[in-house]
Amino acid sequence: MGNSVSRYDRHTLLNVIGESGQSRIESARVLVTGQGALGSLISILLARAGVGFIRIVDRDFPEIHNLHRQILYDECDVANGLSKVEAGQRHLARSASNIRIEAIDAEIGPHNIDALIDSIDVVVDAVDNTTTRYVVNDSILSRGIPYVFGGAVETAGNVMTIIPGMTPCLRCLWPDPCEVSGHQKASTVGVLSSIATLVASIQVTETIKLLVGDFANLIPGLLTIDVWRNHYQVVHLSRGPECICARIRKSNFVTSE
Ligand SMILES: [Zn+2]
Repeated sequence: MGNSVSRYDRHTLLNVIGESGQSRIESARVLVTGQGALGSLISILLARAGVGFIRIVDRDFPEIHNLHRQILYDECDVANGLSKVEAGQRHLARSASNIRIEAIDAEIGPHNIDALIDSIDVVVDAVDNTTTRYVVNDSILSRGIPYVFGGAVETAGNVMTIIPGMTPCLRCLWPDPCEVSGHQKASTVGVLSSIATLVASIQVTETIKLLVGDFANLIPGLLTIDVWRNHYQVVHLSRGPECICARIRKSNFVTSE
């Protein structure tokens, strides 16, 4: 492959990344939980940014009704019956053969989350249900790994970056699992493709800030967006005193800087 300086020239030129930041990106290991609408763009942007190791996890197959927003796949993938992670790995490798992509065809749950986040620097959320998010949330808290939550439904979306021991977690945001079960889903109310890609793009930005060590510029709370109604707001949250995250030590990721 050509040298990485020229390949990533437009990133290394940025004051906020530079050559040292790009070097950190290239040595990073990131887990993307899910390869649907959010996971598609997250994986594409992280791979093209040069993240050295990306683990992608999903258990579904691309379907024709996915293609309007799941931009990692095409009609051939649907016709060939490839799994999302297999098709995704092939597409990502064509645009970034210099990095390593590990495809895991599995549903994320308590049985495998510890193995999935092993040796990972940052976890990026791209699942479509909050039950799985709780599993990931609890695991990253215990392991001190930053987690970039994101969600999109209808024309609205959220992003929140969680740093164990420093910021609120998903259980601070949604303390009551019963309340969460009533959240609307894209499969029933739809999702505008542009809100999914917007949320994913912001999640990738947060991930790159984490990887280059620019914690001061992370979103200071829960970002809420309605791209149709022109609503953009950051809601400041506090760690719940009774929440499991209040008892967690500061993230190894931050203290190792
Ligand atoms: Zn919490």
